[in-house]
Amino acid sequence: MTASAHTDPLHVVIVGGGVAGMETLIALRSLAGSRVQITLVEPAPEFTVRAETVGEPFGMGSAQRHPVDRIANDFGADLVADRLESVAHNLRRVTLAGGEGVDYDALVLALGARQEPVWPHTINFGGHGAVEAMEQLVADVKRGLTGSVAFVVPEGVSWPLPLYELALMTARHVRAGESETELVVFTPERHPLEAFGRNVSSHMTAELERAGVRLARSAVVDVTPSGDISLPFEETPMRFERVVALPRLVGPAPRGVTHDADGFIQIDSYGAVHGMQHVYAAGDGTNYPLKQGGVATQQADAVAESIAKVAGSGVAPRPFSAVLRAQLFTGDGKHFLRGDLSEHATETSEASETPLWWPAGKVAGHYLGPYLAAHAEPGAAVAPARRVRSATWIEEGPFGE
Ligand SMILES: Cc1cc2nc3c(=O)[nH]c(=O)nc-3n(C[C@H](O)[C@H](O)[C@H](O)COP(=O)(O)OP(=O)(O)OC[C@H]3O[C@@H](n4cnc5c(N)ncnc54)[C@H](O)[C@@H]3O)c2cc1C
Repeated sequence: MTASAHTDPLHVVIVGGGVAGMETLIALRSLAGSRVQITLVEPAPEFTVRAETVGEPFGMGSAQRHPVDRIANDFGADLVADRLESVAHNLRRVTLAGGEGVDYDALVLALGARQEPVWPHTINFGGHGAVEAMEQLVADVKRGLTGSVAFVVPEGVSWPLPLYELALMTARHVRAGESETELVVFTPERHPLEAFGRNVSSHMTAELERAGVRLARSAVVDVTPSGDISLPFEETPMRFERVVALPRLVGPAPRGVTHDADGFIQIDSYGAVHGMQHVYAAGDGTNYPLKQGGVATQQADAVAESIAKVAGSGVAPRPFSAVLRAQLFTGDGKHFLRGDLSEHATETSEASETPLWWPAGKVAGHYLGPYLAAHAEPGAAVAPARRVRSATWIEEGPFGE
């Protein structure tokens, strides 16, 4: 059916109500209005801004949590609290774990990725119980009970920022207390946060130095159960009392959907799934190499534009081209980092102590950002850095759109 032939609303099924799913929902309602009927399939009752959980062990307040049914209701979506089981692409139908079949005109897979601990005996930040374990570690550091902590980015992790934040915030507690805890970051990156570009890497290096955190770059390490860290060309392993690491991500590999060997859904630059008409995907569950919330929202915007066009809204879809935006918790404040990953960009990155976009939340999304800012609990330490001055997205600085 062509776009102009649509008279009934296009039925869009969004599976997954995380960052990518919520951005798709809000963008689609905004771009296509009543031309789309939206069903959201999400098993969890709450949408949690996981990026903000890094502040929790350091007393920065709780990460934002919003009822999924309220968000669905705010944007006129029918909510189905269930899990996707499989996709029957030729029938344009999804089957849910509860056995129900749901027909769609367009399907958006925003399933995220599964987190797998690389070394089970470390604090696997992002996994179950990690905030409490990190809280305990910080308490031990403050009381001088822990002499050394290693923060390890495993090979294959594309978004190392949380580990740098944990190291910087722990360092602040070391400085504030009487302890002399040794803190070291091990990363396989050639420069810290190298995905952003040179300026952000230099900024990060300086921040670590200022905080007294040692940095081991280009370090592909293994961690033994006793906390020894071995480097490929070093005979003697280094011993640390505690080790904090990030999990590796594994793709969702939904049944009936094209995915790569690691389970990540294969998409083009508009978010269309390879070889599957009317099926789109966005976020950590796709085969785009960088798994990050802001990137997930930009992919979701490309998907929403494509579907809005099919629904007859007159929107001209733009291909996805990532600009990395991140808020870095340093322990002393929040810094704003930005890097343009698009092909045409030349000098690509910048770091600033004042917001480079607005609302300046942890997850930068054109549609989700303003919604979260408007619903943040007053007084929450992780709430936006300044009072909301506008409910719309504003880009500041040289990247302004
Ligand atoms: C500790 C930590 C710190 C981070 N820091 C930052 C940061 O500072 N900035 C940033 O931009 N990003 C950050 N991220 C990354 C960011 O959280 C992710 O990139 C982002 O959440 C990805 O969005 P998504 O929608 O793809 O996946 P998710 O947000 O994980 O959402 C996936 C959703 O799909 C649902 N789902 C899964 N399987 C099914 C199924 N079978 N059927 C139906 N629903 C299903 C899940 O319940 C979930 O709600 C951080 C992540 C972590 C863990």
